[in-house]
Amino acid sequence: MFKRLADRVSLRRQISLLAGAIGLAIVGVTTIGSALLARGQATDMAQNTLLQVARSMADRLDQDMAERLREVRNVGSLEPLQPHWMANTGGLRIVLETMQRTLPDYAWIGFADRDGRVRAATGGVLDGVSVSQRPWFSNGLRQAAVEDVHAAALLESKLPPYSDGTPFRFVDLAVPVRDASGQIIGVLGAHLSWRWADVVRREVLSSRRPELKEDVVVLDRSGRVLLGSDALATPYTAAELASGNFSVQSAEGTRLAAVAATRGRGEYPGLGWTVVALQPIDTALAGANRLTSLILLLGLATAILGAVGIWWVAARLTQPLTQLTAAVDRIGREANATMTRHLHGSPEVLHLSTSVRSLLRRIGTVEAGARLIEAEASHAIEAAENRLKRLGADLHAMQVLADTDALTALLNRRAFLPLANGAMSNFKRYRRSICILMIDIDHFKRVNDLYGHAAGDEVIRQVGRIVSEAIRPTDKVARFGGEEFVVLLCEIGLEGAAIFADRIRQTVANTVFEPGGQCLRATISIGMAEAEFTDGDVDHTIERADRALYAAKSGGRNCVRSFEASKLPGLKAAA
Ligand code: GH3
Ligand code: MG
Ligand code: MG
Repeated sequence: MFKRLADRVSLRRQISLLAGAIGLAIVGVTTIGSALLARGQATDMAQNTLLQVARSMADRLDQDMAERLREVRNVGSLEPLQPHWMANTGGLRIVLETMQRTLPDYAWIGFADRDGRVRAATGGVLDGVSVSQRPWFSNGLRQAAVEDVHAAALLESKLPPYSDGTPFRFVDLAVPVRDASGQIIGVLGAHLSWRWADVVRREVLSSRRPELKEDVVVLDRSGRVLLGSDALATPYTAAELASGNFSVQSAEGTRLAAVAATRGRGEYPGLGWTVVALQPIDTALAGANRLTSLILLLGLATAILGAVGIWWVAARLTQPLTQLTAAVDRIGREANATMTRHLHGSPEVLHLSTSVRSLLRRIGTVEAGARLIEAEASHAIEAAENRLKRLGADLHAMQVLADTDALTALLNRRAFLPLANGAMSNFKRYRRSICILMIDIDHFKRVNDLYGHAAGDEVIRQVGRIVSEAIRPTDKVARFGGEEFVVLLCEIGLEGAAIFADRIRQTVANTVFEPGGQCLRATISIGMAEAEFTDGDVDHTIERADRALYAAKSGGRNCVRSFEASKLPGLKAAA
C-alpha cells in the first residue's frame, strides 16, 4: 500500500513531505514543550506572588491588631488616668474621644466598671448601660482580650449608620483597668470597625498593578469569609487551605489561590484568620500564553521557510535524476539519441551518470554484435534457401528425368503406375470408370532390320507423339518398353475407348514415316480392358489389356481387341 503510494508521489514531493512532517513535529513538540514549561513557570511565579500578597495582608492585619491592642492597653494602664477612671468620667470621655479621633476605625471606646456598667464612652453612647453580658467585658475583666469579628449588639441602634449602608461589624479589644493598688476596677473596651480590614485590603491591593486582577479574602478560624464578596460562606475546603496554594473553579473562571495564615504579634495572640490571595488564571498565565503564541509563530515561520528551502533543495537534488531519466527515455525513440551526457550535482549523481553511460556503451556493443550476427544469419538463411531452391529444382529435374522415357519424352512405366493406381482408387470410390490400352507396333523387328535401329527409334518416337496428341489432358500415356505403349483413359467407358483406340490405329496406319530420308509405313495392334471392382490394382487391368493385345496380334494385327468383347458386339474378344 505504502509502496504503491510512494510510486505515485515524486521524489521531490516525498523529500519535501518527509522534511515538512519532521519540521512540523519539531515545531509542535517545541511549542507544546515551551508552552507547558512557560505555563508551569508562570503558575509558580503567580502563586509565589499571590503568596507574597496574602502574606503582606496577613502581616498588616497582625500588625494593626497588635498596635490597636497596645494602644488600648497603654491607655488602660496610663498612670495619670488612674484617679479619673471612676471619679472623673467627663475627663475620661475626652481622653477616649481624643483616642477615637486619632484613629477613626474605633467605632466605640468605653470604660465599664467591675459591674459592667459603662462609666464613660465615646460620644456618651451606652453611658450607664450594662455590658456585663458582652464577652469582651467578661474576658477583659480577667486579662487583655481580643474578640473575633461579630455583628453589633447594643450599638446597632446607637451609632450613626455607615453612608453605604453596610452593617456594623466589630473586632473587640478589652483590657482590665487597675487602680493604684493593682486592683481591677473595670474594663476598657474598644470596638474596632471591621471596615478597617477592608481599608488594609485596598491598601495592599493598591500597591499591585490593577491589570493583575488580584483579590484578597480573609477567612475566620472555621473557614468562613470575614472579608470578601461571599461573606460568611465557606468556599474553600480545609485541605485546600492546608495545601498553601490551589486553584478555584467559579462562574468567572478558574482562579489561582495562595494561602497565608495570620500569626499574631507580640501580645496580640491572633484570631486564627487566614488570608487567601486570588488571581484569574488567564491573567496569571497571560505572559506565558503570549510567549507560547510567539514561539508558535516563530516556529511556523521557521517551518514555512524550511519547507520552501527543502522544496528548493529537493528540486536541486532530484533535477539530475529527472534529466537522466528523460535522456535515457529518449534513447531508441529519437534519432541520434544513443548516449546521455555527463551530469553533475553530487558524487552519487556523477557516479550514476557514468554508470548509465558505461551501460549504454555496453548495450551498444552488444547490439552491434547482435546486428552482425543477425545479418550473417539472414545471409546464411538466404544462401540455404537458394541452395534449397536449387536442390528442389534439381530434384524436380531428376524426378522428371526419372519419370520420363529418354527416347519419347513420355512417362515411363515407373511414373505411370502410381498415376494409374490413383485413377483406379477414384474409380473405386466415385465409380469414375477407366480403361487401359496396350499398344504394340506390329513386326517392328523388320523395321529395324530393313531401315536400321535409328529409323526404328524415330518410328517409336513418332508413334508416341501420335498417341500423346490424341489423348485428352486428363489421360496419360507411357512407353512401357521397346515398341510398347500403355494408355490410361479416364472417365470413359469401353465403347468410347474402342472408338478412341481405333482412331489412333487408323492414324498410325495412315501415317508415312520418313526416318533419315527413307519412307515407310507401320501399323499398331491395340488391346483394351476396363477396370473392374474386383481388380486389386491397375496391374490386373493392364494384364487383361495385355491379353487382349495378344489376341489382337493373334487376330492378324493392325486391329483393336477388348478383353470384355461381350460388351462390345463390334469388337472381337481376346482369346
Ligand atoms: P510383333 O508383330 O509380333 O510384335 O512382331 P515384332 O517383331 O514387333 O516382335 P518382337 O516384340 O519380338 O520384337 C520387337 C523388336 O523390337 C525387338 C527389338 O530389337 C526391337 N526393339 C526393342 N526396343 C527397341 C528400341 O528401342 N529401338 C529399336 N530400334 N528397336 C527396338
Ligand atoms: Mg513388342
Ligand atoms: Mg511388336
